[in-house]
Amino acid sequence: MDLRSIEIQPIEAKWLTDKHVSLDVLRLDKIDAVVSGNKWFKLKYYLVQAQVEQKRTVATFGGAWSNHIIATAYAAREAGLKSVGIIRGEKPTVLSYTLAQAIEYNMELHFVSRDQYKRKEEIIQSFSNNDWFWIDEGGYGITGAKGAAEILKTVDTRSYSQIVAAVGTGTMLSGLILGSSRGQSITGISSMKGNTAIEQQIKDLLKNENPQATFEIKHEYHFGGYGKHPHQLITFINDSYDKHLLPLDIVYTGKTFYAIKDMVENNRFQTGSKLLMIHSGGLQGNKSLANKVLVF
Ligand SMILES: *Cc1c(COP(=O)(O)O)cnc(C)c1O
Repeated sequence: MDLRSIEIQPIEAKWLTDKHVSLDVLRLDKIDAVVSGNKWFKLKYYLVQAQVEQKRTVATFGGAWSNHIIATAYAAREAGLKSVGIIRGEKPTVLSYTLAQAIEYNMELHFVSRDQYKRKEEIIQSFSNNDWFWIDEGGYGITGAKGAAEILKTVDTRSYSQIVAAVGTGTMLSGLILGSSRGQSITGISSMKGNTAIEQQIKDLLKNENPQATFEIKHEYHFGGYGKHPHQLITFINDSYDKHLLPLDIVYTGKTFYAIKDMVENNRFQTGSKLLMIHSGGLQGNKSLANKVLVF
């Protein structure tokens, strides 16, 4: 895992120059081909906490293509900890790439029905004779946010006026709000349909902190819902790669880049705005698509 491979990619496009707006992309996906992006940052202090509490195993939750599961498996192994993944849904005959890779990293998988999966407290109870350190689904929590705040310290990000990033649980966005400089505004693009509780969840996470930045969440770029990737999105992702050599994922960053272009074209940003998009990774999830659907 090499944080020095993170870089800034300037985007050159007529839709930007037309509106006198600039856009750079912070390429967290460069950290690693599989364990890329924001999950690495979100996990950092959970693993420290597990070690302080002298736990030998971390346990968490996720679906078959979860970036969080694979990142936890990898990061736990790096930290000398065992890992357990509670996976949503019955065990399939052929494991997803993500789960096969998690097993490679020595994660122990337990499959639970979709119904059981909703009752996380019961699951935790059922394993209570084990001395495990539990991490919420997606790394949700202020500990995750504090790790994500360090995303903005990987390069000098102080000159940007706006920071735009994808939102799932809102933990990364909370971290960006914490880590931002005075005067910056933070825009989150929700990957879910109608997840209007997210604003309050972010405020709850930050209630004991003192963030300088303002934030807003956009709810109209979900493309049909979490994980949905209609043809229009796939075409956009392929075009973005052709034009900018920017690989995007179908769950989060593809929708975010689309949202930025749409907002710029609709004059959502003032002339002279300096935008920074966080490329939060997640490219391994694209392996859920058939071969050759994407050009990269
Ligand atoms: C998990 C994830 C997100 C969302 O992060 P949250 O902290 O859950 O909001 C965004 N982008 C990628 C690539 C992710 O894997």
